[in-house]
Amino acid sequence: MTRTAFVTITGKPNVGKSTLLNTLLGEKVAIVSRKPQTTRNRITGILTRGDDQYVFIDTPGLHKPKTLLGEYMMKQVGNATEDTDVILFMLEACAELNATEKSVLQRYSDSGVPLLIVLNKVDLVNKAKLAMQISALSEQYRFDAIIPISAEKKIGIDGIFEELRPFLQESVHFFPDDEYTDQPERQIFAEIIREKALRLLADEVPHGIAVSIEEFREKKDVLYVRADIYCERASHKRIIIGKDGEMLKKIGMYAREEAEQIFGSRVFLELWVKVKDNWRDSAFMLNQLGFKNGDR
Ligand code: GDP
Ligand code: MG
Repeated sequence: MTRTAFVTITGKPNVGKSTLLNTLLGEKVAIVSRKPQTTRNRITGILTRGDDQYVFIDTPGLHKPKTLLGEYMMKQVGNATEDTDVILFMLEACAELNATEKSVLQRYSDSGVPLLIVLNKVDLVNKAKLAMQISALSEQYRFDAIIPISAEKKIGIDGIFEELRPFLQESVHFFPDDEYTDQPERQIFAEIIREKALRLLADEVPHGIAVSIEEFREKKDVLYVRADIYCERASHKRIIIGKDGEMLKKIGMYAREEAEQIFGSRVFLELWVKVKDNWRDSAFMLNQLGFKNGDR
């Protein structure tokens, strides 16, 4: 008898959702960044352990939408919680809940959905304080379990599987047992480039970038990829390219190295930088870059 659970991972930006997904899967699927909101699409990770299959959906962080992209992201949060067997709501250990966290937690708590609260980053806090936070949350909210973990240091991860077990439903497996993501490879590649660029550029390109994969083909053992990096201003384009193209070379080099590990083949990567005004507000660009509705 096989069993499946659809698990939504949600929580504010930077709480550690992508890190947890990667720890759970032991593979790099979601992209981790010090900057919030790098995970723009719902990322599904799939883990099969014997007869049990877990399908994890990593939602973009909970936040107040300011742009069309923000609205799109919030819609994905809503969508994700509809068809789910259990919600993993992540909070930072020993941190005050912000207003959004309070209202979302209240909503889940009242609605009676299967809910596990995960307190992440316990490696940074003291045990007595943690115990106080757990009892305070228990008094204020209804949930099925509370699990202190460190996604990064891999502490408490078994506890998550223990608490998830009751929510597995008898069902066929929806994905092949050796698959770990339903994300198209192009999207993973775009995320890799975006992450490298954001890391290397630090805060120099304030409005961020988008990456569009224009060509993606495998020939013998080599993966050929051509990608466009979109930014908002000509001045940003100059920064991304850098003096004598040094910055763009670096972005390409780091992205290629990581892609070669993930895809297990040699990678040939060609990067172009393009300017597109206000790409975050343009429905056309959102479409172009694959931010479509219901794109699972
Ligand atoms: P997301 O926005 O919720 O997906 O958060 P990320 O997974 O991208 O993580 C945000 C930041 O928190 C990264 O710098 C992580 O390295 C860091 N982080 C995640 N989990 C832990 C943890 O358990 N302990 C510590 N100290 N840092 C963590
Ligand atoms: Mg993330």
